[in-house]
Amino acid sequence: MKNKASQIPEQELSARPQPAKPLKGHFHPKGKAPSKFTIEILKKAKAKLPFSDTRDFDEQKKGLIAPMKEMKIMADGGHVAWDMEQFQFLGKQEEFDSIHPSLHRQSLLNNNYGLYEVVPGIYQVRGFDLANITFIKGKTGWILYDVMVSAEPARAAWKLLQEHVGEGLPVSAVIFSHTHADHWGGVRGVVDEADVRSGKIPVIAPRDFLHHTIAENVFAGNAMNRRLFYQYGLLLPRAPHGYVGQGLGQGVSAGMVGLIAPTKLIEKEVEEVDVDGVKMVFQLTPDTEAPTEMNTYIPEKKALWIAENVINGLHNLYTLRGALVRDPLNWSKYLSRALYLYGLEAEVMFGPHHWPRWGNERIQEVLRGQRDLYAHMNNQVLHLANQGVTINQIHNVYELPPSLQNKWFARGYHGSMEHNSRGVIQRYLGFFDCNPANLIPLSPADSAPLYVEMMGGSDKILARGQQLHNEGNYYLAQEILNKLVQAEPKNQEAKDLLADVFEQLGYQQENPGIRNTYLAAAYELRTGIPEGKTAASANPDVVRAMSTELFLDFLGIRMDSRKAEGMRFTINLITPDNGEKFAIELENATLTNIKGFLAKEPDLTLTINRSDLEQTMMGVKTLEAQIKDGTAKAEGDVGILAKLAATMVEFDPRFEIMPGTKSFAPNVPKTNAYEVEFGKPTPE
Ligand SMILES: [Zn+2]
Repeated sequence: MKNKASQIPEQELSARPQPAKPLKGHFHPKGKAPSKFTIEILKKAKAKLPFSDTRDFDEQKKGLIAPMKEMKIMADGGHVAWDMEQFQFLGKQEEFDSIHPSLHRQSLLNNNYGLYEVVPGIYQVRGFDLANITFIKGKTGWILYDVMVSAEPARAAWKLLQEHVGEGLPVSAVIFSHTHADHWGGVRGVVDEADVRSGKIPVIAPRDFLHHTIAENVFAGNAMNRRLFYQYGLLLPRAPHGYVGQGLGQGVSAGMVGLIAPTKLIEKEVEEVDVDGVKMVFQLTPDTEAPTEMNTYIPEKKALWIAENVINGLHNLYTLRGALVRDPLNWSKYLSRALYLYGLEAEVMFGPHHWPRWGNERIQEVLRGQRDLYAHMNNQVLHLANQGVTINQIHNVYELPPSLQNKWFARGYHGSMEHNSRGVIQRYLGFFDCNPANLIPLSPADSAPLYVEMMGGSDKILARGQQLHNEGNYYLAQEILNKLVQAEPKNQEAKDLLADVFEQLGYQQENPGIRNTYLAAAYELRTGIPEGKTAASANPDVVRAMSTELFLDFLGIRMDSRKAEGMRFTINLITPDNGEKFAIELENATLTNIKGFLAKEPDLTLTINRSDLEQTMMGVKTLEAQIKDGTAKAEGDVGILAKLAATMVEFDPRFEIMPGTKSFAPNVPKTNAYEVEFGKPTPE
């Protein structure tokens, strides 16, 4: 992707060049075949990549006990929760001219689907979801390490284990390695919460687990859910010209997401715990791939669980769905610690994504390579930044060293050199490149009309854009066509041509998140954002795990400040069953709260048990109803609650990203203003 702008054509335009013809067999009627330029780029990539190194395929296959026979796993709700049939096309051709050969390879590797032995006593079911589920044999039963996104695939995995090596033994413990939903969301498919409450099954997680699990997804949750449509290509059919996998796994299952709160937290940096008779040494790795995460060493088996700190690929420092940028240096240092603490003697290394690595030499190769991958991104990006390379240039300048580029485990299957390098600058220096023209720029829709005017109008831009497209200069074409679409959101011809450009750029990507983002944008430019019901709803498990403070903070975000102009009041909120109290103030059209304090002269004092407040947060019972039947006690001006409720807005996860793609009516406001609605907690 370097030197993208090197060939600027010079010839004069006489007439509009011909657009490409739609491709028969493409899932979209306006979809196009990959151009000769795209095919050439993919061919060159194939020639450069280390295809002679086939060790991943050996490791991916090793230990297969039983493939999963049913290609579909049904959800309890009657729909399909997981479908591997849709990915079989990947193996039917040696190569596809619309899929980057490296991404195709990774997706073929992710087509594993069944029960595998890691070493005797440790098994994994892979390919049932974005993540694996791991079973470790304990003294009395099975220790489950990470349990996938949803209940139905987790249950199917448990069944497959029992059919072959489970011996009818029960679940004896559950461990969550970190906060992302693909590691805990399936828990209700394999564990009865009553057994956790009674103390029969411990649930172990790294410290601050619940806080980070919820917090990462609340404040910007709706925006993240919308952006997942791009990163995860949620509207794209599984097809050679559409979605071909997510790098980490084939996709995200669509079953029931649940959460059971941990009963034991790992607090120390290195902590040894006897888990059902198995000695486990937990190594906390905070602020790495997740805000809280842990590796685990099982000395008896010389087995190193490396969590998601190591995957087969470069992980995200910056995540396209939107997230705080991760700390690459810290990540690298924790991999170093894992290497020196356990990696020098481990004989197998395994984790919740992809497949294990066997043999100490191989483990050291991968651990060192991964350590250097994140350290290099940190060091070399900052090295360049210190010489004046900005966030708007770094992706065209930064490169990993060839020794890492030639390792499959360092390829960009989740993160990429492009978006991660921008992320590192974002982390340290932020969005501003220090050119004042980029400090307070006009919004794209406001500046675009002048560009269009100065470029001579839409006909000229369309002609030039088509020419650039036809010459394979897609990055240049997107520059000018994007301006036209921003200026003229109703210009379908412009949107269609920009979609054609995005589509070619999508086909060219190795990174599935970037591919999906281009193809999703092309889809919406051609079709518009689909109408229909939005999926967001309150998830009782997530609501229970959400602290009252986080809930009140979120109300401050949901409140449309413009509707609260001139309002001023103070509420004391007391939740006796958990001994918490809050002073809540609305002033300056801003809602704030402070935990542990009460206001001296509140306008309203609301006393309600946290367990009852949850009924409101889940949308089961309104606050008014709680007050009416005496569950909540309100002293003072109860009318304040209705006024505050009137300022609350329900976020719609269908907001427009590309101009002129919105075709639906906005949602009707909810009657229960205090319900906590957001989409699925995001997997990673
Ligand atoms: Zn994951």
